Amino acid sequence: MISPVFMHGNFWIELGGWFTAEMQNALLLLPILISLPFRNELKHFFQTPIEFQHLLPVMSVTAALAFCFYDNGPGSVLYPIAVLIWCALTYRHFSVTIITSSSASLLLYHLTHNYIALYPQEYLENSISIRLGMIMMVIAPLTVSNINSIRSRLIEDLEYIASHDELTLSLTRRYFYQTARTLFTKILGNSTPSALLMLDIDHFKSVNDNYGHFIGDQAIKLCAHTIKSCLRPNDILGRLGGEEFAIFLPQIGAHETFLLAECIRKKVSEHPIYLSNNHPIYIHVSIGISFFQPNHTASLEQMLKEADQALYRAKQHGRNTISSYS
Ligand code: GH3
Ligand code: MG
Ligand code: MG
Repeated sequence: MISPVFMHGNFWIELGGWFTAEMQNALLLLPILISLPFRNELKHFFQTPIEFQHLLPVMSVTAALAFCFYDNGPGSVLYPIAVLIWCALTYRHFSVTIITSSSASLLLYHLTHNYIALYPQEYLENSISIRLGMIMMVIAPLTVSNINSIRSRLIEDLEYIASHDELTLSLTRRYFYQTARTLFTKILGNSTPSALLMLDIDHFKSVNDNYGHFIGDQAIKLCAHTIKSCLRPNDILGRLGGEEFAIFLPQIGAHETFLLAECIRKKVSEHPIYLSNNHPIYIHVSIGISFFQPNHTASLEQMLKEADQALYRAKQHGRNTISSYS
């Protein structure tokens, strides 16, 4: 715009030189800035233990770059592309942006000081060509990494939906059994006993019949929330169906189990659900307990059966009560 002759050469080549330089700089810096992790994510970043296998892709990138430095030809730009895609499929997006940008910067530096220096009169044309190649090399792993991280997030969301009950956010029946079974095999060799609670809301049908299903749903939700407030971090809560829950308590003594069950029973009975006219509705639960003693040969299925029998007994004893299998 200032002068028809841009600097002192061909306008289009100079425009190409400017454009590719802008594009290249943006592609080397912006992906890193955009995907910078938040502080809480950064903590998770450094807490993940690093295994040798996990380092293989980045080691391969280093080897490919070393090969490029050994070979001065323009084709060396493409050496790291396959291993960069391997990184994109293995690492988090932020790590991929760092590895890709560092590799591209090193390659640019290398080619500028070798290949481009060989043809000083075609400096701009060769720079444009190399920058375009570099842009393509950066875009490929970044695109793969982006798609991969979106897919991983989708899978995580799907796994959460499949393993958690929509109403109470406790584990679904199938996932509860799966997690409890894994925990059960882990604690088999331990010396501390474990416990399983089976819990059922008392006369719940009448809550639905008297106040409607919406209030019934709110009661189930509040009940699950109250149960969670009494549990330890490693205890697992599952909704077996309807108004029935199971809780697996790994490594807990009999006394602590009764205290925890009593905490649930008491808290549930003390926290009402309020109707729109502020009328409180109180619910109660019956709880059955079964214990798993160390060196005992019982299975998880046996524990569930025993807890169910104990729950049946609690119902027979007048409800809003706790009973253990013995
Ligand atoms: P008991 O003290 O013997 O357990 O009596 P109960 O009325 O709680 O037992 P019953 O098994 O006869 O009734 C359970 C009721 O729970 C029947 C069903 O309509 C209701 N229910 C099951 N799932 C849900 C749900 O997700 N939402 C609502 N609102 N009600 C549910
Ligand atoms: Mg019930
Ligand atoms: Mg029931």
